[in-house]
Amino acid sequence: MILFNQVNKWYGEYQALTDLSAEIKSGEVVVICGPSGSGKSTLSRTVNRLEPIGQGQILFDGVDIHGTSTRLNQLRTRIGFVFQSFNLFPHISVIDNIMLSPAKVLGVKRSQARRHAVELLDRVGLANKANAYPAQLSGGQQQRVAIARALAMNPPVMLFDEPTSALDPEMVGEVLNVMRGLANEGMTMMCVTHEMNLAREVADTIWFMDEGRILEKAAPAAFFTAPRHPRAQRFLADLR
Ligand code: ATP
Ligand code: MG
Repeated sequence: MILFNQVNKWYGEYQALTDLSAEIKSGEVVVICGPSGSGKSTLSRTVNRLEPIGQGQILFDGVDIHGTSTRLNQLRTRIGFVFQSFNLFPHISVIDNIMLSPAKVLGVKRSQARRHAVELLDRVGLANKANAYPAQLSGGQQQRVAIARALAMNPPVMLFDEPTSALDPEMVGEVLNVMRGLANEGMTMMCVTHEMNLAREVADTIWFMDEGRILEKAAPAAFFTAPRHPRAQRFLADLR
């Protein structure tokens, strides 16, 4: 579904991604881990074109994401993304946040968009917050609304970049539960996270990154018990 083909990316002189090739299959849950500065966010940001790449290709169902004729808006309707900061629109209610894009961008009828939004709020455990404003919600609740908002477009793939890292510890679990649910329902997911328990439970494949390269791709059972790359061995040892 998403194919990275010899991707290289520079920030000025600094090479942030080097000869990176990888594939995410439909229904697959990939968890990306690795030390700070290894290029995890950069990689996830190249997928929805928040960052350009220097060389190589990223294909999404065969379409060149960075191709000059690929329309950004169309691309972004098909890739749901949830990052560290919540980015909800502060001046409209929770349900309006969720309905906005389906109604405006996809032209879904408001009544239908509202019905879907109610369903999604229920799914993330926030059915009673439809009319609240973002500022009236906790961080964990806001992040669940952000997930519902992304899902409202029915994207075939969801990208997450440390969606729990700005949350108070007691709110992490509720967001991880929503992610766990999505993974179990067969959503294709690319998740950057430091939550190794989530990785262990839901990942089909772990990508371990360091210095802009994927040094190891492995099933979680293998990665956590017997990492092959010395850098991955050190990374895991430091977590313990
Ligand atoms: P963390 O776990 O801390 O979030 P990361 O693996 O997500 O780290 P990136 O944010 O992708 O790492 O950064 C990779 C490298 O690229 C780092 O060395 C970083 O300093 C550099 N970098 C990231 N964004 C920029 C930018 N906008 N301009 C210049 N350098 C950048
Ligand atoms: Mg990051």
